[in-house]
Amino acid sequence: MIPIDRRSALRAAAGVAVTGALATGCTDGASDSVPPSAVPSGSPSATGSRTGGSRPVAQAAPAPRRFPGLPAEIEHGPRDRPGVALTFHGQGDPATATALLAEAERAGAHVTVLAVGTWLDEHPALARRILDGGHDLGNHTLHHVDISEMDEERAYAEIVGCADRLRRLTGSIGTWFRPSRTQHATELVRRLAARAGYPHVLSYDVDSLDFTSPGATAVTRAVTDEIRNGSVVSLHFGYADTVAALPALLDALKRRGMRAVTTTELLT
Ligand SMILES: [Zn+2]
Repeated sequence: MIPIDRRSALRAAAGVAVTGALATGCTDGASDSVPPSAVPSGSPSATGSRTGGSRPVAQAAPAPRRFPGLPAEIEHGPRDRPGVALTFHGQGDPATATALLAEAERAGAHVTVLAVGTWLDEHPALARRILDGGHDLGNHTLHHVDISEMDEERAYAEIVGCADRLRRLTGSIGTWFRPSRTQHATELVRRLAARAGYPHVLSYDVDSLDFTSPGATAVTRAVTDEIRNGSVVSLHFGYADTVAALPALLDALKRRGMRAVTTTELLT
């Protein structure tokens, strides 16, 4: 129902900013191509607390999709096509986030950002910045604590807490969910993610280990040693090594004929 690529529509709608539309539950006039069902007036986002303030909402971002034939936990895409997905833990200094996005865009690459909910509270403009760059935006829990160790009620609150913030800022709960502090979701977390509206959880098959700050060269090498067609790579905002590594990493991918695409494009 909702087209995947809404960049041009988003730009067109940018001049029709409807301040506080989600807060009032009124989506009329946001854009003539937004179905009223995109933001149900009875949804928690319409009436919930607002930590991000009253922001212009141009148009609902893409919603999660079910990919038939793919498992509940996705680790990689097809191995017979040259696409790869660079996926970022979305937290930390917003300057590293915008630097990484700009560098990716300079190279014609698109990435996937799994945003931590409290990070969106601190930097609400980044949600739209990520979408406007043609990247995927998803949910990486509210507080980024060890979700595998939580009971059902607290784990679910971590998932929907971030989903609510994404919905308030973008009109969608985001295209992906990745659990916090683990490569693999427990069965409980997979079930709770599905209940919250995410048919799949997003894992990865290549770990850059950039969060250990091993130096830019080591980050690039960790990825290029392991990456192959269809790979989903774990990377992080908030680390200088990652910013320094990205140009060489994107160059290396290009030389090998690989394209850095969003996770949605990787699997579509
Ligand atoms: Zn993380």
